[in-house]
Amino acid sequence: MLIHHIQEAIGNTPLFELPLATPNHVHIYAKLEMFNPGGSIKDRLGEYLLADGIRRGEITKHTTIIEPTAGNTGIGVALAAQARQLPVILVVPERFSAEKQTLMQALGAKLINTPAADGIKGAIKKAQALAAQTPDSYLPMQFTNPANPATYYDTLGPEITQDLHEPIAAFVAGAGSGGTFAGVAAYLKSKDPRTQAIVVEPAGSILNGGQPHPHRTEGIGVEFIPPFFDHLTIDATLTIPDADAFLQVRTLAKQAGLFIGSSSGAAVAASLQVAETLPAGSNIVTIFPDSSERYLSESIYDV
Ligand code: PMP
Repeated sequence: MLIHHIQEAIGNTPLFELPLATPNHVHIYAKLEMFNPGGSIKDRLGEYLLADGIRRGEITKHTTIIEPTAGNTGIGVALAAQARQLPVILVVPERFSAEKQTLMQALGAKLINTPAADGIKGAIKKAQALAAQTPDSYLPMQFTNPANPATYYDTLGPEITQDLHEPIAAFVAGAGSGGTFAGVAAYLKSKDPRTQAIVVEPAGSILNGGQPHPHRTEGIGVEFIPPFFDHLTIDATLTIPDADAFLQVRTLAKQAGLFIGSSSGAAVAASLQVAETLPAGSNIVTIFPDSSERYLSESIYDV
């Protein structure tokens, strides 16, 4: 494939049947989103958020893009902004991986850290304050922007049904902003209402009524219910402890030759639980949002 802009390499990622033993020979397929050029599922979102702002006339030639992010959306937004030569300021809570912050800066973004203890809510507040002070600025605000689930409804959902010409019994995916889960779940249910949509969170996230607390699984977990879940049927919510997610990170390297981040590890642990509930030969589709390579400084492979 010959390309002339790196954006042409976004999407159309492989769908990989995981070589894992499951009860009842249930098949688990994972969309390998680490193969996007910025290394994560959020390259798709960066493109959509900026294209949407431009289409609505809110982003012009010199607009400064300001966004609160756990990291991957920052890289996706910085990549999309680089292509359009737009300045970017990303507001990132301190606890997120150094590799992601280095990559955002490499793409030309300016970083502002907020205290880890203030969580993503602290980063959102700071980004809003900055946008209010910065003339000609635009805040895509992934946490409420309908362009977020639309990204995945329009791209990832259709890719999955093009890749797999069989009924999908369950779609299993983590939620940070909730955009990936909401967009793909809505798409797959529109094609086959029998597909169960199962959301995954780490322990320390609130979807199952737990108390918020810090966790090592990066990129998923919510401090407030995503607004994208308002009109969505969620068939189950699985809460995966960090240790279970990290065990699967190590297992996938050894058994599948694949480097996955901790949110992907949580997706594997949850998919294996779901596999136990399904009839023989059913299909589960999950998402691997990024690779372990951006978490090596966080000892992702250490027990
Ligand atoms: N995994 C990783 C590694 C991520 O960076 C993100 C985005 N924060 C997610 C999962 C969750 O994606 P979403 O925001 O679409 O829920």
